[in-house]
Amino acid sequence: MDIRELSMEELKSYLISGGEKSFRAAQIYSWLHQKLVTDIDEMTNIPAGLREKLKQDYEIAPFEVADVLTSSLDGTSKYLFRLKDGNVIESVLMKYKHGNSVCISTQVGCRMGCRFCASTLDGLERNLEVSEMLEEIYLIQRLSGERVSNIVLMGSGEPLDNFDNVISFVKRISDENGLHISQRNITISTCGLVENICRLADLNLQITLALSLHAADDETRRELMPVAKRYTITEILEACSYFFEKTGRRISFEYSLVAGVNDTPEEAEKLAALLKGRNCHVNLIPVNPIKERDYRKSERQNIIKFKNHLEKNGINVTIRREMGSDIQGACGQLRKSYLEKEAEKEVLS
Ligand code: SAH
Repeated sequence: MDIRELSMEELKSYLISGGEKSFRAAQIYSWLHQKLVTDIDEMTNIPAGLREKLKQDYEIAPFEVADVLTSSLDGTSKYLFRLKDGNVIESVLMKYKHGNSVCISTQVGCRMGCRFCASTLDGLERNLEVSEMLEEIYLIQRLSGERVSNIVLMGSGEPLDNFDNVISFVKRISDENGLHISQRNITISTCGLVENICRLADLNLQITLALSLHAADDETRRELMPVAKRYTITEILEACSYFFEKTGRRISFEYSLVAGVNDTPEEAEKLAALLKGRNCHVNLIPVNPIKERDYRKSERQNIIKFKNHLEKNGINVTIRREMGSDIQGACGQLRKSYLEKEAEKEVLS
C-alpha cells in the first residue's frame, strides 16, 4: 500500500505499535506531504533501521508520466498519468494571475453518462484512492516547479460518487501538516447527487460547491444528463439551499451551453426565474464538442444574450474562459484519444 494513504493518526499508531517514538510521525508525514519525496531513503532525519521497516511495510508509488501537452495559447498543461495498475487519468494545470489551479480526476472513467462528456463514454473503471488524488497535485508541483494554490475537482469522474475518498483528500490537502491549501480554494463539482450534497453540507467544510445544472427544466436536463431521471431540479435546489444554510458558502451553478438544446431565450428565462434571489453564481461554459456526439457549441451571440438575460434579473454570471482549447481541453477527451491510439497500436502490432 502507498504510505501516503495513511493519515497522521494512522501513521502514529503504526509507529507506536512498532515500538517507535510518536514524534517520528510528524517527521515522516512532512517528508511525504510537504517535501513530496518519492523515495523513503530521502528521509534523512529518519534512522536507517526505521526506513528499512517502512520500505518493507509500504511503498511510495508515484505515477508515470504518459504524456504532457502544453497550450501555446495560454500555457495550460494537460498531464496524462499512468497509475500503478496501468490505468490512465488526466489532470490539468492552469496558470492564472491569481495563482495556479489544478483540475483533478476523482475516478477512472465515470458512470453518470452525461451526453456531452467524453469521460463517461466507457463507463466507470474504478474510484481513485486518496493517495492517487494527492499524487495528481504532488506530481504536478514536482514537474512544474510551481506552487498549486487552487484545486478544482472537475476532471474525470463524479466526486460525490467517490464520497469518502474525496472527503479524506480534501481534509488531507488542506491540512496544515500537508500542502495546507485553503478549503476556500477548493471546488467540488457535482452532477447533483442529492443525498451526498446533504452529507457534504453536514461536514461543514469551507469548500465551494459547483453544481452542474445545464438546464432549467427537468425534461431538457434529462435529455443531457441521465442522472436527472433520479433527481428533479427542485430537489437539487433544495439540497443546494441546505448546503448554503449549513456552510454559508455560495453555490456556483455550471451551465454548458449546447446550441439549440439549452441556449434558447426561453431556457434563459426559466433559469432566471429558477435562480432569482438566490445567493449564487452562474458559470456559462460553451460546450466543447466531442466527436462521439453531434452537440454543437452555441453561437457567441446567443451566449451573450443568455448572459445578459440572467444579469438583467440580478444574477451573477461569468462566461468560462476556454483554457487549452488547442490541447483537447474537454473533460476526458485527451485520455480517450490516448487510449484509442494505444488500442490501434495493439491491433497493428
Ligand atoms: N462529475 C462532475 C465533475 C466533472 S465535469 C460534474 O458533473 O460536475 C466538470 C464540468 O464540466 C461539469 O459541469 C460537466 O458537466 C462539464 N463538462 C463535461 N464535458 C463537457 C464538455 N464537453 N463541454 C462542456 N462542459 C463539459
